[in-house]
Amino acid sequence: MEKSMFLVSGAGISGLLFATLLLNERICSPNQIVIVESANSCGGLYNPWFCPNLGELDKGMHIYYETLIEEIDSIIFNSIPEKDWFILEGNFKDVAGAYYNGRLQTNSPYPDLRFLEKKYRDECITEILNNLNYIKKNKMEELITNGYNQFSAKDYWTSRFGSSIYQKIFNPICKKLYGAFGDELSPNVAYYTKLDRVIIFSSELMQEIGNSNFLRKVLAFPDQLNMPNYRSNSQRGLYPKLGMRRVVESLNQNLLDTGVKFLMNSTVRNIEYLKGKYRVKISNNSGEFLELFPTNIFWSGSRSSLANAMKIKSKNISQKGESNYIFCRVDEENLSLPDLYYFYCLDDKYSAFRVTNISQYTNNIDSKGRKLICIEQHSSTEESNNHRNIDDCAGQVINELLEMKVLTRKPKSNMVRSFQIRKRIFPRPLLLEDELCCNMQRIDNLPNIIFPGKNKPLSKSPFFLVDALKDIYSQFQQSLR
Ligand SMILES: Cc1cc2nc3c(=O)[nH]c(=O)nc-3n(C[C@H](O)[C@H](O)[C@H](O)COP(=O)(O)OP(=O)(O)OC[C@H]3O[C@@H](n4cnc5c(N)ncnc54)[C@H](O)[C@@H]3O)c2cc1C
Repeated sequence: MEKSMFLVSGAGISGLLFATLLLNERICSPNQIVIVESANSCGGLYNPWFCPNLGELDKGMHIYYETLIEEIDSIIFNSIPEKDWFILEGNFKDVAGAYYNGRLQTNSPYPDLRFLEKKYRDECITEILNNLNYIKKNKMEELITNGYNQFSAKDYWTSRFGSSIYQKIFNPICKKLYGAFGDELSPNVAYYTKLDRVIIFSSELMQEIGNSNFLRKVLAFPDQLNMPNYRSNSQRGLYPKLGMRRVVESLNQNLLDTGVKFLMNSTVRNIEYLKGKYRVKISNNSGEFLELFPTNIFWSGSRSSLANAMKIKSKNISQKGESNYIFCRVDEENLSLPDLYYFYCLDDKYSAFRVTNISQYTNNIDSKGRKLICIEQHSSTEESNNHRNIDDCAGQVINELLEMKVLTRKPKSNMVRSFQIRKRIFPRPLLLEDELCCNMQRIDNLPNIIFPGKNKPLSKSPFFLVDALKDIYSQFQQSLR
């Protein structure tokens, strides 16, 4: 490999980590790496907002889930002293819930069908068992074990559970969370928001059923904190006691100390590939332009943002809409979210998408003992210009939490802070976008460029940090080692 210059676009967690990997693996020396970052600080989405009354505010869930790739995890783990981590393991790795069918499920994030009206519940159980029986009898286990290879979310749910479960249970949830039906979206939605299993049986019966790998992929254990140890690996969740900002600062400082060059307030505007080299145009906040000719590029944004920089026309319909973040500090006695780190709100009666109980996996409790929660709304209206008033949205979600009895008292107005991002940032993997963006395949064939989702349709791109890092590492291994 030629080593003359490696350009890293974006100093979010993945850009900082990738630059450190290049140094650790002796692919580059520090003076061969240039990191370009649009903002005036590093961290990207892991950069918290700050509010004098509420403190540092993570944009939703920011636990680091290990990739189980030593070269990657050690960079994060060693960025701060070991004693400064909260380590979340076993059944406490990811304590998730759901608001479904008019009740808060703290036992499990999977739709708990045991609480449906009896006749309907029995119909559901019959359909699920008949479906599993058919799959097993016809040796079609692939449908369950490799479900994400299916074309659409509808195909995924129908083959897994049966068609009326898809229509009556999953399709309405899908519309609520993603603003589209299951036949319009990739199966990834089931992975993003834990919609790959259902609960139909008690813990006692599931203890016995749990011996079957096949059934465990479809039927959820109804009591997550008392689940037997079915896990096939020892993946942990990590959260820094002083907030994710510390990891970002430490990675940034280590790179600066070794002599890696950062161009802050600078944006990669245009990339051209010419005769084995890239020509990259960068502009900074003072309106100055700079051209660089790197041999290699790491691009931390999405495949479509890279296509934009390469002047390949694409339509970003999935990002229309908005994402709202509403934070509040509440007295412990006014919050009823036992053990949960977060829950997804699956009922379409409510606009909340996910509610994160940040204090449950961090020590983020203020001097008056108040806990911090974050409520996300991700709307997907096609008209991007009509944004809702953020204060109205905050009022709405707080009323929703009062109605759900998650909050028992309205938080004081100075304990509420809201932010609006004028595009939907939680993914909405529309199959239509794959069709509209088929010309993007050109960028998959380019050499010496690494980006999350390379060689994958847009709708199957990795989204969670752990998956993006695994994807990046596998490209790194194929192209650079
Ligand atoms: C709503 C939401 C919820 C999420 N929830 C979870 C979760 O629960 N668990 C989880 O593991 N992950 C979650 N994620 C994903 C996680 O946030 C991302 O995987 C992670 O932030 C990716 O880091 P990154 O460095 O690749 O990108 P980013 O954090 O987006 O950083 C990219 C950086 O690049 C800079 N940049 C962009 N374009 C340019 C350019 N042209 N030139 C120069 N600089 C540029 C940006 O300013 C930014 O600093 C969530 C993401 C979202 C949006």
